[in-house]
Amino acid sequence: MTNESTERLKNIRERVERATEASGRGDGAVLLVAVSKTFEAEDIRPVLAAGQRVFGENKVQEAKAKWPGLREEFDGVELHLIGPLQSNKAGEAVALFDVIETVDREKIARELAKEMTKQGRRPRLYVQVNIGEEPQKAGIAPGEAAAFVERCRTVHGLEVEGLMCIPPLEGDPAPFFDTLARLATKAGVEKLSMGMSGDFETAIAHGATSVRVGSAIFGER
Ligand SMILES: *Cc1c(COP(=O)(O)O)cnc(C)c1O
Repeated sequence: MTNESTERLKNIRERVERATEASGRGDGAVLLVAVSKTFEAEDIRPVLAAGQRVFGENKVQEAKAKWPGLREEFDGVELHLIGPLQSNKAGEAVALFDVIETVDREKIARELAKEMTKQGRRPRLYVQVNIGEEPQKAGIAPGEAAAFVERCRTVHGLEVEGLMCIPPLEGDPAPFFDTLARLATKAGVEKLSMGMSGDFETAIAHGATSVRVGSAIFGER
């Protein structure tokens, strides 16, 4: 599996590059976040050795078990939290992650602000938007996104860098990617984290600045 994952990584990088170029943007305009959730350190190591440095994890505890060790072996790792954050884990999240993509409610913003002050660490932040307004999904409602970004700034002193979404599983994701891009403009933020293994090229065509790709690199979970 390990050799396969480095082959797949190479292929995904090429596809990201081609889609970026096709979207009229320059090389490196789209960041590839390799989603390593559920995979062990031994599965992740070859992907690090192949030069990948940006990774996504969806659980604080799982990331805490794997990444401090891997960071001792490899320099320059950038870790993104892409799963739901509970307020009692905000401290651990601030200590461990470089980017937190799942800020989606007032209480989390407040806890993150408190922990950042306490720890003197400022991970970059994205607001997660429940773009399909699905009851089972996390994220702030699309209609509240811009106001929430503003409150993060004015009430909590948090600069939000971008928006993140996971569109509904069924159907064409493109309209949802377009909506996220429009919301970002309205909220005055530049970054768009959207697109996964099955739809990252579509997301790039619709303005993604980072894509989160798991199974297409590491294999099925
Ligand atoms: C698991 C996950 C991904 C990666 O999904 P794949 O389909 O394996 O590429 C991306 N984003 C989030 C938020 C995830 O939880």
